[in-house]
Amino acid sequence: MARPAQVPPPTQDLTDPCVHCGFCLTTCASYRILGTETDSPRGRIHFLKAVKAGELNLADVADHFDSCLGCYACVTACPSGVRYDQLIAQVRPQLNTLPVRSPWQRLLRQALFALLPYPGRLRWLLAPLRCYGGSWLQTMARRSGLTRLFGPEISAMERLLPPLSAASFQDGFPLVTPAQGPRRARVGLVLGCVQRLFESEVNSAVVRVLAANGVEVVIPPRQGCCGAVTDHQGETAHTQALAKDLVAAFAKVVGPGKPAGDEPLDAVLVAASGCGHTLKQYNHILDTDTPWAEAGRPFAGGVKDVQEFLAELGLSAPLQPLASHPLKAVVHDPCHMLHGQGIAAAPRQLLAAIPDLTLASPLDAGVCCGSAGIYNIVQPEIASQLGEEKCADLAATGAQLCVSANIGCTLQLRQGFEAEAVGAPLPVFHPAQLLDYSIRGVGLIQLSPGPGSPVAAGGG
Ligand code: SF4
Ligand code: SF4
Repeated sequence: MARPAQVPPPTQDLTDPCVHCGFCLTTCASYRILGTETDSPRGRIHFLKAVKAGELNLADVADHFDSCLGCYACVTACPSGVRYDQLIAQVRPQLNTLPVRSPWQRLLRQALFALLPYPGRLRWLLAPLRCYGGSWLQTMARRSGLTRLFGPEISAMERLLPPLSAASFQDGFPLVTPAQGPRRARVGLVLGCVQRLFESEVNSAVVRVLAANGVEVVIPPRQGCCGAVTDHQGETAHTQALAKDLVAAFAKVVGPGKPAGDEPLDAVLVAASGCGHTLKQYNHILDTDTPWAEAGRPFAGGVKDVQEFLAELGLSAPLQPLASHPLKAVVHDPCHMLHGQGIAAAPRQLLAAIPDLTLASPLDAGVCCGSAGIYNIVQPEIASQLGEEKCADLAATGAQLCVSANIGCTLQLRQGFEAEAVGAPLPVFHPAQLLDYSIRGVGLIQLSPGPGSPVAAGGG
């Protein structure tokens, strides 16, 4: 389905299959918190039918579309095959053209779109905050409630800010990291803009895990954002520009006479599921824009989540236990992984290979944690409640650590686990980090065997 810059109203074939059965309601994150039919998939589809019939203006019900997290849990739940993901992708660009949001919300969104997809700009802004993140000053500011004086959105951003390390301010990867032992595959890696700043260890772990399993990794040095941040908010033209730049960054280094050599890549990998979902849509995102359409199709076809790729390839590197006693990890399925890409088995298959590690699943595995791109900044109250509910569900499994393969979810869960009501503050890791520790045999230190015990990653 093409997505031109000027989008017509949602097409009838997307709304017609809804039979208003309500099977989607219990998995809908916004409905669970707000409890109103108008903030459910069924209610929103009802609105769209009324808009189509000329009985309602979209502007009058815009708030009920802004309350949607775009998690796509309703797509998985729907027995009638309603493609709500395609539907909301058509609605969001229209909302962006309507004067429905407050001046503050418009300013905040524009600031986020001007910053988040640009690691260089974000690094410049974050440099003064490096001493603040994780410091006593931050602890005091949070405890005293000082941050709340700046409003819920700024307070939410402050609470999401993780400690920043020197690695957050540089990418530092070689263009080509060779495979260890016989080469089994050659891949490209998309670093992700938020991930490379706020959780830079994940990309380092991914490169080590791939190399240890016989995979050569090509990382274009001047790669920007994949466009996930803007894509999820219906900023079509901005997303297309970012997508073109990323495709060009790979084309500059791979090919005849190019610095990374002319051998083709077996896949383009990414370790953040929100990015992976958008990258797999490049054939649609660039569909209207030849000659980029020609480049977008093969690029999108080659994109794989790191875990999806490794599970298909099979692990060849020997794995060791993570601690001197058995561990239990609970897997959090990011929505853009589970509902957006249909990946559920791969992370479990990889983690199950680690000796003495058992896996748990929470009761509400398919429900969003409240991160949802910039949702936890622009809708902080709903997001915060979802985060606490999710963390309580994860902690109730009795696991000692939590695993999440999306940077947005990771930051949201770490914040959620701080809530007193959750009870057990589980540390959150990317699956690649656990595989990396297991391959290198560095283990996890400061660990006691009880549920929710503090865990620190060893070896770095
Ligand atoms: S979207 Fe699907 S599950 Fe939800 S009410 Fe419509 S038909 Fe039922
Ligand atoms: S995308 Fe998520 S929040 Fe939006 S209607 Fe569907 S289930 Fe509800």
